[in-house]
Amino acid sequence: MSTRYRCNGCGNLTRFDVVATRRTRSFHHYTVGGELTIDDEELLIATVESVTCRWCGGAGSEVAEDAPAVNSAVPESAGEPA
Ligand SMILES: [Zn+2]
Repeated sequence: MSTRYRCNGCGNLTRFDVVATRRTRSFHHYTVGGELTIDDEELLIATVESVTCRWCGGAGSEVAEDAPAVNSAVPESAGEPA
């Protein structure tokens, strides 16, 4: 899953700081020696808390979410799970 962002302040499409909380389930596979391999990570919930433009520092309503496959109209609160 990928979400694209667009800064309405400067037109930036490519550089953002994204603060998010992810809840995942994954298969932790240990060797007898205790070495861990993580497989099959499944994303259960991803909550984006804030997105800040790296170019102009715009945040909140300045940065719009482009998610054409799901929902193109995204309100200011970017906290909904994608
Ligand atoms: Zn910007």
